[in-house]
Amino acid sequence: MADLLPLKMIGMGTQDIEAFPSYLIRLASSHGITTGHLLRLLLAEDAGTCNALAAGVQSQPFAGLVRPNATTLGVLKCTSTHVIEPLDTLIHGTFAHLMPALKRSANTYTNTVRWCPGCLGEQEVEHGADYLKLVWFLNGVETCAVHRIRLRDRCPICQQMARPMNRWGAFAACQHCAAPLNRVSADDVLEIDPEATAPDLIRFVGDLVHRNAPFPDGATNRYVDQVFNAAWASERERELWKRLPRDECIRYASADEPVTLPAARRIAYLLEMPLCELLQGDFPSVQSFGFATEQLLPESMQPNKRGSKVDTKAIEERLLAGLEASTPISLRQAARDIGTTVGAMRYHFPGLVNRLSLAWAGHLTAELNRKKIQAREATFNEIQTWRLRHSKPLSRKGLLAYLIRETGIPKNVLREAIQQWWLPALTAVDAKSASHLPIFATAADQLRQRN
Ligand SMILES: [Zn+2]
Ligand SMILES: [Zn+2]
Repeated sequence: MADLLPLKMIGMGTQDIEAFPSYLIRLASSHGITTGHLLRLLLAEDAGTCNALAAGVQSQPFAGLVRPNATTLGVLKCTSTHVIEPLDTLIHGTFAHLMPALKRSANTYTNTVRWCPGCLGEQEVEHGADYLKLVWFLNGVETCAVHRIRLRDRCPICQQMARPMNRWGAFAACQHCAAPLNRVSADDVLEIDPEATAPDLIRFVGDLVHRNAPFPDGATNRYVDQVFNAAWASERERELWKRLPRDECIRYASADEPVTLPAARRIAYLLEMPLCELLQGDFPSVQSFGFATEQLLPESMQPNKRGSKVDTKAIEERLLAGLEASTPISLRQAARDIGTTVGAMRYHFPGLVNRLSLAWAGHLTAELNRKKIQAREATFNEIQTWRLRHSKPLSRKGLLAYLIRETGIPKNVLREAIQQWWLPALTAVDAKSASHLPIFATAADQLRQRN
């Protein structure tokens, strides 16, 4: 039920779609409040889930509300109950549909809000309002494709960064000095390199706005595997590896190798297919290797320095050492140690990888059990002696906060322990009190003994 002003998202159904954070800023501004205030109101409703949600919002920059994660989904849901736009529409202002198909990666999404002064100038005329485009929240997009201006995140006059959580009347004016942000200024940088406009990402956003469901999990891996198999069967794998390097091919063909947006972007580029089709994964693939062109991968899309040659000896040694160590290590850690991938390790030493993976799983279970026991003991001890150390009354929340701080045991384990042992521990305290032994008796006794 919409109880806020009937503001519409701008650029629906196009690659120029408005970002959800931009919509929130405009919504707050139209009610004359700060964006931070609006967010608090939106999240205030359901205290139970929203405490976690508010913490999620605080743990990332405001621009992060386009990222495919639980925080974005939560805020989208809370917002949709108050505004005229339904959830299905709001979600197109974010990358939420990339979850769970793509895994988290640093530097994919911007930490700040950015804009093109040329676009802001035209939006007012074209849409009656200026807004921030979703594509401007991708780090890969450095330059506006229309105006070729490097995107800005600060005012050209006072050089202050935008503060999206504060009030922002209109994107056309600086929040700090009111200088116009919708005019090209002397220190704007013109960029002619087409790579900086990331046409593949812009097209991707244009495809995303027509989706109404998340991408299937693992589709990219299945697709690479399929291409790999087809190349193998037709003895063209060398040809394929000229396009998609062998190690990457093996790595991503493995079903459990996580795929990030930069990785998917690279694979799509090398296989000459739209990113959206790669993530969907069910397109007729075998003809489309695109061995045709000899185009090299642009610099900005090069993979992070990972050893391109697989050193099988190093892998074997690391896996054996990992198995012999008193505390096992995770496959991912082993791969990181020697600069390779889990997929490559599994390809070369499937048996060793399985053994290490089992050892690691066993270690994790044992660790968890150990922490559970610790958490139970801490819960009991703390409830029994709470009044000795605290002036405020005992509460589950207070206890949890205290134990998180004092014990270093993970929050979820503590929360479970408190849930499970709260009543038994309280009953134990009551039993002591009933037998005329106040719960501070131990301390008093100790004191007496010492004197
Ligand atoms: Zn522009
Ligand atoms: Zn300014």
